[in-house]
Amino acid sequence: MVTIRWNPERGWHDAVVQPYRPLELDPAAMVLHYGQAIFEGLKVYRQPDGSLKSFRPEANAERFRSSARRLAMPELPDELFLGSIAELLKVDGRWVPEQDEESLYLRPFMISTEKGLGVRPAKEYVYALIASPAGSYFSGGLKPVSVWLCTEFVRAAPGGTGAAKCAGNYAASLQAQAQAAEQGCDQVVWLDAMERHWVEEMGGMNLFFVFGSGADAKVVTPELSGALLPGITRDSILKVAADLGHAVEERKLSTEEWEKKVGTGELTEVFACGTAAVITPVGRVKHAGGEFLVNGGEAGEVTMKLRQELTAIQRGGEDVRGWMRT
Ligand code: PMP
Repeated sequence: MVTIRWNPERGWHDAVVQPYRPLELDPAAMVLHYGQAIFEGLKVYRQPDGSLKSFRPEANAERFRSSARRLAMPELPDELFLGSIAELLKVDGRWVPEQDEESLYLRPFMISTEKGLGVRPAKEYVYALIASPAGSYFSGGLKPVSVWLCTEFVRAAPGGTGAAKCAGNYAASLQAQAQAAEQGCDQVVWLDAMERHWVEEMGGMNLFFVFGSGADAKVVTPELSGALLPGITRDSILKVAADLGHAVEERKLSTEEWEKKVGTGELTEVFACGTAAVITPVGRVKHAGGEFLVNGGEAGEVTMKLRQELTAIQRGGEDVRGWMRT
């Protein structure tokens, strides 16, 4: 693991690569009480020539700084974020697996460590980077997921922390995820906090909607409202889809439009995307008033093509945008 400490006098200091071990925390460490905790998630892929590359780590570094600002934490400079990955890979590079769909998952995070019970931004922090080999996300093949449109609980509100990758967002999501499971669904779909009408994202992934089919298909994703996480996979798919000649749109999309246009056949495919699984088709949608299938519950053609494009880049295929970094 890598750790780097921060305080106002010394700034970022004491950077060290050390064996994985427990962190020592005072019981009054402010993170335990007021929750200044942010994280990132990205993957390192072994390339056909044996070298190691990560997917768009600068984008994670930037999002980490943006999460830090929202939680009133110090921003880790990108050189340190990227440098911590390089240093960890120097000692742990052999843990990056070789099989297709396997990777080394990196988990950078930062917590406040100052002790004190006053509510204010802490004056001491630790940044740490840990890693774990990750197997194939879909050991039984790419299976479409079922989703629960949740109107009882919300993930994020306007002006809240939805666009930050902070620990509290995930704590707040667990009860809704449990409700989705009770409803027999794999994942929860988050709706906007004000009207419970607009689709935001799914569990820990962003959502895409495909209108039409083939090369003429239009690819739509909910706009960044400030309440959803700006996914790096989301951004990559918008670019790859446009390169493939698809019309792409970031806009508001309601649960009514979702059901109605699946009914008329205009809305042909729905998928979710994120670092963990890249792209996951959505097959069944359930809400308080009923349920319906998208594309007969099967993975769609545009979904699979976009997945193929992105995974090819990650696996050493042509990388015209220079997304893969050593
Ligand atoms: N939304 C949420 C809430 C997430 O936790 C994630 C995973 N980081 C995503 C979307 C997808 O983001 P990315 O593509 O950067 O992994």
